[in-house]
Amino acid sequence: MRKVAFYTLGCKLNFSETSTIGRQFLEKGYQKVEFSETPDIYIINTCSVTDNADKKCQKIVREAKKISPNSYVAIIGCYAQLKPKEISELEGVDAVLGAAEKFRLLDLLDGFVKEDTPKVLATEIKETKEFVSGYSMNDRTRTFLKVQDGCNYKCSFCTIPLARGKSRSASIANVIENAKEVAAQDTKEVVLTGVNIGDFGIVDGRRQERLIDLLKELDNVEGIERFRISSIEPNLLDEEIIAFCSTSNKFVPHFHIPLQSGSDKMLELMRRRYRTDLYKSRITDIKSQMPDACIGVDVIIGFPGETEEDFLDTYNFLNELDVAYLHVFTYSERPNTDAVHMDGIVPKQERAKRSKMLRILSDKKKRAFYESQLGTTRTVLFEHDIEEGNMFGFTENYVRVEAKYDPALVNELKTVELTSINDQCIVEIREPKVIYEKH
Ligand code: SF4
Repeated sequence: MRKVAFYTLGCKLNFSETSTIGRQFLEKGYQKVEFSETPDIYIINTCSVTDNADKKCQKIVREAKKISPNSYVAIIGCYAQLKPKEISELEGVDAVLGAAEKFRLLDLLDGFVKEDTPKVLATEIKETKEFVSGYSMNDRTRTFLKVQDGCNYKCSFCTIPLARGKSRSASIANVIENAKEVAAQDTKEVVLTGVNIGDFGIVDGRRQERLIDLLKELDNVEGIERFRISSIEPNLLDEEIIAFCSTSNKFVPHFHIPLQSGSDKMLELMRRRYRTDLYKSRITDIKSQMPDACIGVDVIIGFPGETEEDFLDTYNFLNELDVAYLHVFTYSERPNTDAVHMDGIVPKQERAKRSKMLRILSDKKKRAFYESQLGTTRTVLFEHDIEEGNMFGFTENYVRVEAKYDPALVNELKTVELTSINDQCIVEIREPKVIYEKH
């Protein structure tokens, strides 16, 4: 039996796709092993958003070859779509597959026989129209269920549309079928995954369905206790979706909403499809209907043209906003984007300073949110990992909690009381065994 190992860089979507490809290998009789278990084949799923994607890819290939010198190495994913030739020139690479080809890897690289020159199979992204559904399984406590791919927006800093192509989705029927499969495997929590989930519903190049209808259908899938919408553009997170989540038993009160900048001037330069007033109204709407909702925000600092004043606009906007944490991204130049040609480059040192300020703000916001939750009773889904005899999990509203390790709690939902916050900003709870409630 030939052994295959996978390595995934980047986002939840990449994880769900690696997992889907992994199942294809299992169906064909391959054995899935860890990276260090001398596999015959390595599949490395890359990301174009990662800084130094080329160096990271090279490093992983080098490690793979050290562990298993005669292994066959195939590179897939966003970076493979963007720079196929460059990657094929990295030492040790046997094949590079683009966005359209990665799901047909077993057919296209039949037998994984090494050749004198690496195979490069990457069609133009414009021609990639097919949607391939999938989900991650057995890799984590939560399952990432892919519902959408690609993006029709043209944010000036983003290479994702070039790496993943046009917006396209699964049909609602197909997502439900996958959700039922996932439920049958004792998965408690499902995270809906895509590039631009709010744009769900384009099938065969035509808008045919709506995200709200998908959410309503998913709400009825038996066996799954929680659904999270991983990240959604503020202009697409409309009142109907917010109102639905506020009454749903399964869609949790946790939203991740990219802001990118708190300055309208910067939002225009970034070619985002909303302005700060809309963003603010979404937050107000969510908090008025779900006061305990956890809201996370993506923000980019150091975008070309961002003056000290523009940055302070962002800082002050976020400071006043009722949100729980920030994901801070430092702008870095990407070839083939419009932003790379823009004036007003922000010096690297300044970018680092702004990033640090927002990270400190994020820590403060997270602590304040956690403090607001102390004394409340929540449900925690416990995960596998153990650290110094402790295990961890998240509440429905995304508070990270810690408890003494108990194998019986892994992948279980338990009702607990949030009692205090430790030095690592993790919430401590009342002994779960004492307040055990079977679901
Ligand atoms: S919405 Fe903008 S940032 Fe997000 S994937 Fe599309 S182009 Fe990129």
